Amino acid sequence: MPTPTEHGRPDAETTTLARSHDGRPIADRGDTVCVIGAGASGLTAIKNLAEHGFGVDCYERETGIGGAWNWRHDRSPVYASTHLISSRPFTQFPDFPMPDDWPDYPHHSQLLSYFERYADHFDLRRHIWFGTEVVRIEPVDGDRWDVTTRSTGGYGPERTSRYAAVLIANGHNWSPKLPRYDGLEQFRGEVMHASSYKDPAQLRGKRVLVVGAGNTGCDIAVEAAQQASHCWHSTRRGYWYAPKYVFGRPADQVNDTLLALRVPLRLRQWLYHRTLRLTVGDLTRFGLPAPDHRVYETHPIANSQLVYHVGHGAITPVPDVARLHPHSVELTDGRQIDPELVVFATGYLPRFEFLDAKILGDDEGVGRPRLWLNAFVPNHPTLAVAGLLQPDSGLFPLVHWQAVLFARLLQARITRPDRADAFAGRVSAGAGERYSGRVKDSTRHWFEVGHVDYLRALERALRDLEGK
Ligand SMILES: Cc1cc2nc3c(=O)[nH]c(=O)nc-3n(C[C@H](O)[C@H](O)[C@H](O)COP(=O)(O)OP(=O)(O)OC[C@H]3O[C@@H](n4cnc5c(N)ncnc54)[C@H](O)[C@@H]3O)c2cc1C
Repeated sequence: MPTPTEHGRPDAETTTLARSHDGRPIADRGDTVCVIGAGASGLTAIKNLAEHGFGVDCYERETGIGGAWNWRHDRSPVYASTHLISSRPFTQFPDFPMPDDWPDYPHHSQLLSYFERYADHFDLRRHIWFGTEVVRIEPVDGDRWDVTTRSTGGYGPERTSRYAAVLIANGHNWSPKLPRYDGLEQFRGEVMHASSYKDPAQLRGKRVLVVGAGNTGCDIAVEAAQQASHCWHSTRRGYWYAPKYVFGRPADQVNDTLLALRVPLRLRQWLYHRTLRLTVGDLTRFGLPAPDHRVYETHPIANSQLVYHVGHGAITPVPDVARLHPHSVELTDGRQIDPELVVFATGYLPRFEFLDAKILGDDEGVGRPRLWLNAFVPNHPTLAVAGLLQPDSGLFPLVHWQAVLFARLLQARITRPDRADAFAGRVSAGAGERYSGRVKDSTRHWFEVGHVDYLRALERALRDLEGK
């Protein structure tokens, strides 16, 4: 078998014909690795696998790169005003900085241009089959995979290719999680999920109820405060609304300094509470419910404007929705309000509809895989998931190192099978491990990781694999 560095670029010459168990023709791609998706995670996967000498075929259902950050994509969750929540230095890939003259929190259009530059610089497009969606992946011949694709939208015949390994980078911010409320179907007003929210014109002049206090829900409430005739913001609990800047620096950078100094969690929580007290003040003074948890126990909300608009009466904080009536919404405190538009900013759920859920250890089929390092699959050493993370900072550096680790694992399977076997043991023993402190039990925190803890765990795994 060739070493990873001998693997060539995938092309027709490396393809041979095989047959499936039911006699279908299969293009055998030899030692080539398949990557599903060309968003941030897929791009860095292609780049790192190719740099380690592997042939790579990437399938992307859209006609462009950038995934969630490409607003032209029909499943993109970004809206006109989306900016990064994590700051630039903590979000960029470690080997490809964003331009120095970009703001701390670039706009989504800048993110797309960043990915375009990344793809051009590392010559990634030649690996990508655009407009092609993966409909099925199945294990075959031990550790190899049959990947079945078709043109997005279902046109044309299906085609199956056989790969040495698969890295799934299909994103987890595109399949809306919709809440169930009594009376929702009977409600006569307009209802949308935040995934359909694109432009403040959709809110203009309307009485709007925004449900959910994730970063998206807070952004939409702030826009409604400026565009709608009235905005109610419904949250199930009180939250810590952190400003995007603390002491003149992006908040995640201040937090990272504390983490780098290994300041213990309790002390960080105390400092955070003190800082919020001194800057934002007592949230209950604004009519916001008191948080029922300490900071860092829910995914951070970075929004400097929400409390400001509450303070100006442009956002009315309200509790959870109890039920909907045809012309009103009843809240859990018994109040009735009469929005014309309800925006559910209730998040997203991961979906791996092309794969038997049990393979990822999602035995209940709820969409929550049981993986090690949120990436590696017990009993399937040639399958991994990239980007299934909700970090307290930027995602891209974390996925970069996930991809490096997967590439080194595939190399080790050829050059040091003993280390690859030891790695497989750690995957089985560690599946489901968490890399964050205590967080509230909700789907929102399924993939929550503290970026420092997570990077340390990746580094340890890399060192073990390399025998250092
Ligand atoms: C409003 C909002 C703000 C955010 N802000 C930040 C932030 O500040 N910092 C940060 O780090 N992250 C942020 N995120 C998280 C964001 O999801 C990540 O930054 C990043 O986009 C994840 O990249 P990904 O490649 O894993 O997934 P995606 O960007 O979703 O890309 C997945 C790709 O896979 C393709 N695909 C899916 N299924 C298939 C299939 N079956 N076949 C072929 N192709 C397929 C999709 O078309 C898509 O192109 C934010 C998310 C949202 C919604």
